[in-house]
Amino acid sequence: MKAIRGATTVSEDSPLSIRESVRELLLSVIDANRLQISDIVCIMFSSTADIKSYYPAKAAREAGFSSCALYSSLEPEIDGALERCIRIMVLADTDSAPEHIYLNGAKGLRKDITAVYNVAVDGPAGSGKSTVCRLVAEKLGILYLDTGAMYRAIALKCVKDKKDYGDKDVVKHLLNNIDLKVEYRNGRQITLLDGEDVSDLIRTPQVSMLASYVSAYSFVRAKMVSLQREIAKKTSCILDGRDIGTNVLPNCKFKFYLNASPQIRAKRRYEEGKAQGNAQTFNQVLNDILERDFQDKNRAVAPLKKADDAVEIDTSNLTVSEVVAEIISKIQEKI
Ligand code: C5P
Repeated sequence: MKAIRGATTVSEDSPLSIRESVRELLLSVIDANRLQISDIVCIMFSSTADIKSYYPAKAAREAGFSSCALYSSLEPEIDGALERCIRIMVLADTDSAPEHIYLNGAKGLRKDITAVYNVAVDGPAGSGKSTVCRLVAEKLGILYLDTGAMYRAIALKCVKDKKDYGDKDVVKHLLNNIDLKVEYRNGRQITLLDGEDVSDLIRTPQVSMLASYVSAYSFVRAKMVSLQREIAKKTSCILDGRDIGTNVLPNCKFKFYLNASPQIRAKRRYEEGKAQGNAQTFNQVLNDILERDFQDKNRAVAPLKKADDAVEIDTSNLTVSEVVAEIISKIQEKI
């Protein structure tokens, strides 16, 4: 069950205006959240005291929202409140992150959820970026863009097509013909390579190492970075990677750099791998991590580096919830 917030204003206090505005608001909510009316459990309305001519709940029923519980209430009269404003809270049966809808003059009420903003999270492998980003995204109702998955998909393409990843021209040709897409299903990022969902196939140790290799090519980075910027421009999202704060979104308002000792990072990856039936020993995982750190930090183009204005968090002795709470509190302080 998700709570979707929304608000609108009506141009005048008349039954017609109220009916039209309520209808527009509710249709936008179901459209943006890909809901059926039958997914909605209840809708609560509150309106400012200058709305006297019609119940918003009645307008909702007339707009076809009659199978759910509807309730209207009056807001306290507060000096400076937005005029003729109707707010809603829609409780709906959905797993997706809620898309809150603010229309007309009500847009300015919640800049935190109506303005597009990005959060950059960089750090080495195993520092906890993906687990933390997924949870922060869920709590803030924004997208999580795992940029590493894009480099991994190119590496997987080299493996699948048996291409020599050490040959620049071969990789260039492959990149020009690659069909790589990132989609979201139930709030989860799906990586599609030539139409196939490769979200799990890109997680093997071989692909991890190769991704670090191919991501050092400047032409690979240029293509991936432009895709990432395109998504970030349109949608509020948290992006994790190696160069988000330094290169992809250098003007981003919220930047974090997660770190942890190589031993702790290797231990996390070793445990994860063991649970998935991966046969690598702890020492092999540690060596892979050290090699990837070296490659990522020493490549010529956009190496892994903390941005000067990023908040650094050492996750070695912190729980996932502690890191998530720290990131969210820092975002909320500045938003
Ligand atoms: O984060 P993840 O381990 O999935 O990334 C795989 C590899 O892709 C990294 O080792 C790194 O070399 C590369 N990468 C990158 N820039 C990013 C994200 C990942 O170079 N923004």
